[in-house]
Amino acid sequence: MKFEDFGLSTAIMQAIATKGYVTPTPIQSQAIPVAMRGEDLLGSAETGSGKTAAFAIPVLHNLTEKGNPAKGQGRRIRALVIAPTRELSSQILDSFYAYGANTPLKFAAIYGGVPQSGQERALRNGADVVIATPGRLMDLINQRIVDLGHIEILVLDEADRMLDMGFLPDIRKIMSYIPKARQTLFFSATMPRNVQILADTLLNNPARINVEQPKGAAADRIEQSIFMVPQKDKGSFLVSYLGSESFNSAIVFTRTRHGADKVVMRLRRAKIYAEAIHGDKSQSARQRTLDGFRNRQVNVLVATDIAARGIDVDHITHVVNFDLPREADTYIHRIGRTARAGAKGKAVSFCDSSERSLLRAIEKMVNKKLPVVQPKFEFVPEAAPEKSEAPRSEPYRKVTPSRQVAAPRSSGSAPGDFPRRGSKNKSQKTKYNKFKSSGGGGGNSGGHRSSGD
Ligand code: AMP
Repeated sequence: MKFEDFGLSTAIMQAIATKGYVTPTPIQSQAIPVAMRGEDLLGSAETGSGKTAAFAIPVLHNLTEKGNPAKGQGRRIRALVIAPTRELSSQILDSFYAYGANTPLKFAAIYGGVPQSGQERALRNGADVVIATPGRLMDLINQRIVDLGHIEILVLDEADRMLDMGFLPDIRKIMSYIPKARQTLFFSATMPRNVQILADTLLNNPARINVEQPKGAAADRIEQSIFMVPQKDKGSFLVSYLGSESFNSAIVFTRTRHGADKVVMRLRRAKIYAEAIHGDKSQSARQRTLDGFRNRQVNVLVATDIAARGIDVDHITHVVNFDLPREADTYIHRIGRTARAGAKGKAVSFCDSSERSLLRAIEKMVNKKLPVVQPKFEFVPEAAPEKSEAPRSEPYRKVTPSRQVAAPRSSGSAPGDFPRRGSKNKSQKTKYNKFKSSGGGGGNSGGHRSSGD
């Protein structure tokens, strides 16, 4: 199947050509014709499969086929895309801008973590397609800034993750504002029972498209292995591991935000240029970090699961599970960050003996035993501090990030130019004090779940 076969308008075909796409991906081949006919769709596909274009292209097609939008105040929101995180929403917005560049349609994204005023302005100026996270959307609905009464097409993206994040009540509420007579496109990487139930309530006799089973093809290009590493040694082990590998860009997953910050500090001490991305960071900091990672200025991105969801960077060669995920299907999402666009990738997991049961659950899910390997590099665990020594958090307090930062690989900027953050600002001090009061070390295995929005 070729893009020409879909019968898309010249405006959209030109935009696809500008993106350099030659052939549709499997999800696009199956989803675009169905969605162009106005039918409901239940798609099981992961990020990286090309699913954004699989819904964005037919949405653009269907809206433009039905006539050009009214000007100014008469413009109404005609399509709504709901996505779990700010990052994913902003990536989806970029896709609409790209594929819809030659159409008269206007687009806006609304998500939390940034002031509302810019988003209000975009809505007032008229948007045909709105991409939104559930929380901020509900805020704007409650303030009567958003009117969903004229929605013709609804897209739910990464529905499983939205339910994991506890957005079901918001989604239900949002649905009550959307006309029943509409087209609904529903995407989820996995289809557990709660997702299936939601799909059943929202979809009307949908076409089912199951492109890639979670256990599927992408995983075949990923070399997966396990290192048994005590929790307390994982930081040093990570430094040795990355030192022994030739990697383009690596993403390291930790279970908690606090854990992510600690790993960044450890890597920077070893002159590996890392940045964290998680829900405690401001939206602008997250965006700056992502841009740096995309431009290869940041070599290692340390992320919590939710913040990393939907990150679409093709050159990630290594995924490191610093902590094993509590839910086995999260493992699939994590390793799917590598081996994109037909490339190969490596996914390694650092397993503490307390995480064996999580490993077994993952192996059950991927339906194979993952090889436990011995490191090919020399690894000397850091000695535990003497009683008289400073507490574990001390090195983090002493060494400021800007002094640890290695020179970015490909930028013309001086070492320490990126990120632009004060080395001893108030909030950082508070964070270090938090380290101290919580005892500092002890790994990331305990405690609070991370959240991205
Ligand atoms: P997604 O699953 O939507 O996050 O897309 C993953 C990546 O595939 C993005 O970098 C897209 O730009 C890219 N992509 C989407 N469709 C195609 C296509 N037909 N040909 C080549 N690349 C594509």
